[in-house]
Amino acid sequence: MEKQRINIVWFKRDLRFTDHAPLCAAWEANLPTLLLYCFEPSVMACEDSDVRHWRFVYESLQDMQSKLDERNAKIYIFHQEIIPVLNAISAQFEVVNIFSHEETGTNFTFDRDKSVGRFCRENAINWQEFPTNAVVRRLKYLRDWGKIWEERMTAPPQMIAESGGNILSLDETFYQTNCGEKLPENITQHDPNFQQGGETWAWKYLNSFLKSRVQNYSQHISKPELSRKGCSRLSPYLTYGNISMRMVYQYTQQHYKSSKNKRDIDNFVSRLHWHCHFIQKLELNVHIEFHSILKKYDAVERPRNEAYILAWQSGKTGVPIVDASIRSLVATGFLNFRMRAMVVSFFVFNLWQDWRDLHFLARQFLDYEPGIHYPQLQMQAGATGTNIIRIYNPIRNSEKHDAEGVFIKKWIPELADIPANLIHEPWKLSAMEQELFNCEIGKDYPAPIVDLEKTRKYAGEVVWGLRTKTKVKEG
Ligand SMILES: Cc1cc2nc3c(=O)[nH]c(=O)nc-3n(C[C@H](O)[C@H](O)[C@H](O)COP(=O)(O)OP(=O)(O)OC[C@H]3O[C@@H](n4cnc5c(N)ncnc54)[C@H](O)[C@@H]3O)c2cc1C
Repeated sequence: MEKQRINIVWFKRDLRFTDHAPLCAAWEANLPTLLLYCFEPSVMACEDSDVRHWRFVYESLQDMQSKLDERNAKIYIFHQEIIPVLNAISAQFEVVNIFSHEETGTNFTFDRDKSVGRFCRENAINWQEFPTNAVVRRLKYLRDWGKIWEERMTAPPQMIAESGGNILSLDETFYQTNCGEKLPENITQHDPNFQQGGETWAWKYLNSFLKSRVQNYSQHISKPELSRKGCSRLSPYLTYGNISMRMVYQYTQQHYKSSKNKRDIDNFVSRLHWHCHFIQKLELNVHIEFHSILKKYDAVERPRNEAYILAWQSGKTGVPIVDASIRSLVATGFLNFRMRAMVVSFFVFNLWQDWRDLHFLARQFLDYEPGIHYPQLQMQAGATGTNIIRIYNPIRNSEKHDAEGVFIKKWIPELADIPANLIHEPWKLSAMEQELFNCEIGKDYPAPIVDLEKTRKYAGEVVWGLRTKTKVKEG
């Protein structure tokens, strides 16, 4: 018997229906279309993966499913590697096309994509990939990139007719036989400490940002507590493609003319550029994931210190702003830019550890985007050889950006009774003050695990020595 001819839309980090080129292509191709997502155990077992990421993905898929319910259609979720899933589907159907977005991921997901490419070639399936946002595959000249960004962001969005398309329903027995194990509850149940995934939520965040929160954007962006509201908080939605960059850009432009906060909007839009610009760097140079761009940098000896790493990861370094940043990140998946840069600086310069040991951070960031993560780590670690080396002074940042200690007290209850003017350097409290403010240093809260000044000076000298012209700056 002849197999039914079908197309597949393979969703990856593009979990939305709006402005979605692969869906448009499938709708136009006029064959029954299978909507497919795979939770791949091998990807989920990688060092950079965390349950928080997969929960966000699951919520995004639930949001998509709620839109399909009206038309009695389904997005099929497999908890399996992609190749066995494609194998099973190909045994049942004649797969004509697979449509998906290009993914700039890690080396691991790139290898996975290569094996999908091989599978498609061997099975005469046409796999058509569409560009993601403004990232250009096989870009020849970086100087052309700005123009391409502009063109892509101003082009009309790729919209599907909601009632259009011919969505395929799988036989339930076939699906149950092949869908893999049930996802664990820590993925399928929402955790209220984290932003909720889904296209609906992406638009809610964008709307509330442009309508009111944007007014504090520039003022609050560096403040660890106030940035939680003052920034857009769109990053996980962009990472998992709950909204396209083009929709964010065009919707923002619509608000621009009538907005009283033009300077804030300009600052926001320049960061939208950065998003794609950073990912473009990884797209052009996959080695950024593993090796410092400045070759000499990797040869510097940095003995791994498990005790330091553990103290840093558990928010117990004895430096309040560093500890509060890590504890809040672990608990909520979010940290603003400046504090991200500062915790990396502390790890790399003060603790003298290797930036390549920072998979822990990838796991904590709800918005973990390999194309931003790795270039940013290298930049903050002074490993690019071109950017200014910035060694953040945690005390100065604490005094400036959390002057009243609100953020510190929220995340380090041990320090709750210490007055604001003393909270930034609690190790300086006298014995009497420690008793008075219910915090014995070394018992209730640690003394700093390293000497901040000595370690900063040493790191500055070493990294300065690797360069000839670049300045080391305090951040
Ligand atoms: C070490 C380190 C690692 C980082 N890892 C990530 C990551 O994995 N994923 C991620 O999205 N951002 C990352 N960033 C960038 C930045 O911290 C976050 O994008 C931002 O804090 C997210 O909050 P928001 O959405 O409210 O940003 P907003 O300030 O509202 O900015 C809007 C959007 O612009 C983009 N953006 C903002 N700042 C930057 C930046 N410096 N570089 C590139 N794009 C930017 C993001 O997509 C963000 O959602 C990292 C920064 C550092 C220092």
